[in-house]
Amino acid sequence: MNLKNYIGGGFRQQTSNNWITNLNPATGEEICKVPVSNSKDVHEAINSARIAYPKWSKLSHGERSLWLSKIADKLEEMFEEIAKIESIDTGKPISLARSVDASRSIANFRFFSEMIRDLEIEEFEMEDATNFVIQKSIGVGALITPWNLPLYLLSWKIAPAIGMGNTVVCKPSELTPMTADLLMRAINDIGLPPGVINLVHGNGIETGSQLVENPDIDFVSFTGGTVTGSKVASSAAASFKKLSLELGGKNSSIIFADCEFDKTVRGVVRSGFLNQGQICLCGSRIFIEEEIYDDFKNSLIDAVENMKIGNPLNEDTDLGALISREHLRKIEYYSDLAIEEGGVLLTGGVPCLPKGLEKGNWIAPIIVEGLNHESRCSKEEIFGPMVTLHKFRKEDELIKMVNNTKYGLAGSVWTEDIEKGRRVAESIETGMIWINTWLHRDLRVPFGGVKDSGIGREGGKWSLGFFSELMNVCIKHK
Ligand code: NAD
Repeated sequence: MNLKNYIGGGFRQQTSNNWITNLNPATGEEICKVPVSNSKDVHEAINSARIAYPKWSKLSHGERSLWLSKIADKLEEMFEEIAKIESIDTGKPISLARSVDASRSIANFRFFSEMIRDLEIEEFEMEDATNFVIQKSIGVGALITPWNLPLYLLSWKIAPAIGMGNTVVCKPSELTPMTADLLMRAINDIGLPPGVINLVHGNGIETGSQLVENPDIDFVSFTGGTVTGSKVASSAAASFKKLSLELGGKNSSIIFADCEFDKTVRGVVRSGFLNQGQICLCGSRIFIEEEIYDDFKNSLIDAVENMKIGNPLNEDTDLGALISREHLRKIEYYSDLAIEEGGVLLTGGVPCLPKGLEKGNWIAPIIVEGLNHESRCSKEEIFGPMVTLHKFRKEDELIKMVNNTKYGLAGSVWTEDIEKGRRVAESIETGMIWINTWLHRDLRVPFGGVKDSGIGREGGKWSLGFFSELMNVCIKHK
């Protein structure tokens, strides 16, 4: 199967004859060929978005809200197909692809459809004048997404972007292009006006960078790694493009001795290993209060060793495959580095090859102890099924250790003392933190990080703010 770009309401072959082979992470078999689009394809996609912009931006919020709702309805019909394709393309368990990826992609369109429908114009009265704050569309945007939550993150950007009257060119990850293609089929079937959503496939160097650099792009919403984010930021800065960056993380899970023990073990396993630890919010540094360190460690090892690793399409699989051979090598590198840095591997790190899937990218989940919190393994983003354990005694020492990383995306605190939980949570340099839970998302709240984890916030009204320009209209009374 050869994928095609989606430009101006039709599926188009790329102009070059360059292709990337997309492999199934679990089996190593070919899924499809992905076009590598070049500057000509990118230009054509931007041009089509430009042509569609005047008419689309003049629709009312109510009219655009209806289109978002139609997309949600169509995706709802395709629910099982989304889950299956996402599971095959990413290597994640089908149960997760259903409960997170398929469900959230539909929810994103529904949520923003309702938000945009109900959007009100803010007014500020003066003694002698009335101010209106208008949210105007910006123009044509580039939406660039990573491989770990493909449709979930793409829909999270597309819905508010087009909902606010912009038109867009999307560039999904070359490693997981399948549900982006499915979405294009969905919008094609419902007859969304041509050019409102365009999609170019390809890699970062030849396709993504062309998109960001193009002077006809007005704004860029990028989710991906911190190093790539820095390149995107410098090329967008030259022409003052509005920019949102959702980047990498190295998040801490903080376990106090007074936590609800069993619930916390389950929560920390989930936060460390969901999607094979390949979620930017995963808690991969686990700080445990000294009094319960040994008990907690032993329960964690038991729980992790009991997770079922295997075919992502099996209903009872807990852990699937890593995204690529290259990513597997990276996790193996960090597992070796942990030993070099003085750590002890308590479990995992060895290849685990489910029967019949020997050509996939498999590794048993890793727990390391004995590392200094300054070590590279404890500070750098690994983005895989590997967590490090650290003991703490005092709250002030804990906070210093937790904040000693260049990232600041998320975290979790586990304690029955909510006052202490809030005090500690608010001392952590991070954009989001959960107390006694993890990845418990309300779509109305801001999402994003501080330090090297990003710039700006998306989510709820913050998404609508990013994907629009504010304008103040002041009318003097007679
Ligand atoms: P990546 O940075 O390698 O790629 C992300 C996207 O950018 C891909 O579509 C890629 O093709 C494109 N790209 C690469 N180079 C580019 C360039 N020079 N110009 C424009 N586009 C370019 O990231 P990845 O490996 O796909 O994803 C993993 C990373 O994403 C991790 O660091 C993870 O923490 C991060 N992530 C962050 C969030 C968040 O919300 N903060 C969510 C998911 C993933």
